[in-house]
Amino acid sequence: MLLRSLAYLRPDTVAEAVSALAGAEHARALAGGQSLLNVLKHRAAAVDLLVDVSRLEELRSVEVRADGSARLGAAVTYDELEHHDALRAAHPKVAEVAGGLVDQQVRCRGTIGGNVCYADPASNFPPLLVALGATLHVTGPDGDRDVAAGDFVTGPYRTALRRGELLRAISLPALDDGDGVGYRSLQVGRDSWAVARTAAFVRANGTIGEARVVLGCLGGAPQRAAAVEERLRGREPTPELLHEAAQAAAEGIDPVGDAHAGAGYRRAMTCVMTHRALLDATGLG
Ligand SMILES: Cc1cc2nc3c(=O)[nH]c(=O)nc-3n(C[C@H](O)[C@H](O)[C@H](O)COP(=O)(O)OP(=O)(O)OC[C@H]3O[C@@H](n4cnc5c(N)ncnc54)[C@H](O)[C@@H]3O)c2cc1C
Repeated sequence: MLLRSLAYLRPDTVAEAVSALAGAEHARALAGGQSLLNVLKHRAAAVDLLVDVSRLEELRSVEVRADGSARLGAAVTYDELEHHDALRAAHPKVAEVAGGLVDQQVRCRGTIGGNVCYADPASNFPPLLVALGATLHVTGPDGDRDVAAGDFVTGPYRTALRRGELLRAISLPALDDGDGVGYRSLQVGRDSWAVARTAAFVRANGTIGEARVVLGCLGGAPQRAAAVEERLRGREPTPELLHEAAQAAAEGIDPVGDAHAGAGYRRAMTCVMTHRALLDATGLG
């Protein structure tokens, strides 16, 4: 289906973009267009103004500081993340996940900001950003505010963004010695969407001090696996502990069942992905 006719604006500044987004009844930011244009072609959303943020200089940069913390502009593409040397050194999993999106065309156009703001339950980045303890920097008609990654996606295709607001950048805290990150997804076909996913952050110095285990592909927002985290905290990471803790990923989740995978299969595979992500995060894999 072809796009309906609509207005298109390419602002020069963030302030201009915010003012345009806030000023129109049905305006949307356009980044890589890899999801939004399909939504519009399918008439799944009514939009009469596209505000193209993909070339805003401020949204296009990656900054990696000496301590390993990083700030990613919202309009940085997957391809740019994958090939950013300093980011690969400081946050290898972010670069790896960006490079793991199957389609090179999508990697060259799609952006990390668009990925999070689209908030598809199967989107790659939201669970990883929650596990990493990321902060999202938002700007809008009422000024700037920060949103913790865990509060940003509020449901399927829903975020904490208010009318007229724009995601500017994403901050990642530095990884310390003893920190590990794991990320595992199950795809049934090579180019299909994932049906189960776990991102895990583990801080361990002899025993596990902190663990953030985040489940995706359940049908809604990424979900913290509190029961898994509880079983890990204060314990020495061993293969047996990780296996036992991963089984608790099935507690408190209500996965969607659809044409891609039944609810029971998603639940079982969520435990398997959690086990593998924990093995990776602790270096025991
Ligand atoms: C063939 C194909 C395969 C794909 N496979 C995967 C996959 O395996 N995993 C995956 O995660 N994704 C996948 N995607 C989706 C892809 O990653 C999209 O690029 C991404 O979801 C949206 O990013 P975008 O930059 O294209 O955003 P757009 O499509 O331009 O926008 C998406 C939404 O985010 C909003 N938005 C964008 N930027 C901002 C901003 N800075 N502030 C506020 N709102 C903003 C837009 O208004 C819109 O609502 C695939 C897409 C295609 C076409």
